[in-house]
Amino acid sequence: MQDYDELFTVASECPANRKTNVQATLDKMKDHVVARNGKPYSWSINDFQIGCPLGRGKFGRVYLAREKSTKYMIALKLLYKSELVKSRLEKQVLREIEIQTHLQHPNILSLLTYFYDTNRIYLVLEFAARGELYKHLQQQPHGRFSEPEAAKYVYQVADALRHCHLYKVIHRDIKPENLLLDARGNIKLADFGWSVHAPSSKRKTMCGTLDYLPPEMVTGREYDERVDFWCLGVLCYEFLVGRPPFESSQQEDTYRRIQAVDVKYPDHVRSPARDLISKLLRRNPFDRLPLTDVMVHSWVVTQKALMK
Ligand code: ATP
Ligand code: MG
Repeated sequence: MQDYDELFTVASECPANRKTNVQATLDKMKDHVVARNGKPYSWSINDFQIGCPLGRGKFGRVYLAREKSTKYMIALKLLYKSELVKSRLEKQVLREIEIQTHLQHPNILSLLTYFYDTNRIYLVLEFAARGELYKHLQQQPHGRFSEPEAAKYVYQVADALRHCHLYKVIHRDIKPENLLLDARGNIKLADFGWSVHAPSSKRKTMCGTLDYLPPEMVTGREYDERVDFWCLGVLCYEFLVGRPPFESSQQEDTYRRIQAVDVKYPDHVRSPARDLISKLLRRNPFDRLPLTDVMVHSWVVTQKALMK
């Protein structure tokens, strides 16, 4: 059994007057997950007060919620079993649960626990107080981030992905909509619905969002964790430009531009950033810059240091 101590220990920045309460909730959640003493605590919807909706995905409805006894705030993701079965996504959800329970990293959204009733599955997620990075991007002047802000996010996403790959998990659905921000403005990689455990064999399923699809997935070839390197390049471009690099009005044009790696940079994107993007957007997955090199790339390091 994995050691869950780190995940279920109250964070150091938690205000002192909340620490006891928060730890009590985390202990209860740990009991449930680890089944301590052989008597797991069974969570139910009655343990939570449901607050405002936080967002909606294809299948998930996500609400802000509060554990009743400790007032600990969490995000509760509701999935309807009937919709999952209709779309044959039961396995995908089980995978999401399994993967997200095991990945513990400051830039990966934690799944604290889960439970279900007759009709629904509930995922109890860490609450990302500042919400979607995508909305934040849209609110910027010209709809794009400054270089220091973009570099900080690229670094944190690279670090989160490096951790996923260490555990042989490929995310496959990197895009600003699936990146959340916590109360301090740090990245929380979310939505592991499309992610996959890749023990040894290479995968061939086509998935993810069109604009972020790497060439090997467009053409249905085998792929590995280097698909996430490509997506990080697309993401970095979108952060600095405000739209993804291969965007076209016709789907076929997007496919064609992806395969040709047809990237055009607006003048304001300076060469150090272009250097990083062009090293990630390589048609051959083996030519793409590895994540550890992204994290020490000179543009990332110098710009990130300028962030307040
Ligand atoms: P998709 O259509 O992307 O597959 P989904 O059904 O898997 O969506 P999520 O992407 O997990 O659902 O969540 C939908 C939205 O709810 C997110 O885009 C975000 O706005 C909000 N949300 C999800 N989890 C949290 C959280 N932990 N804290 C704050 N907001 C959240
Ligand atoms: Mg999503």
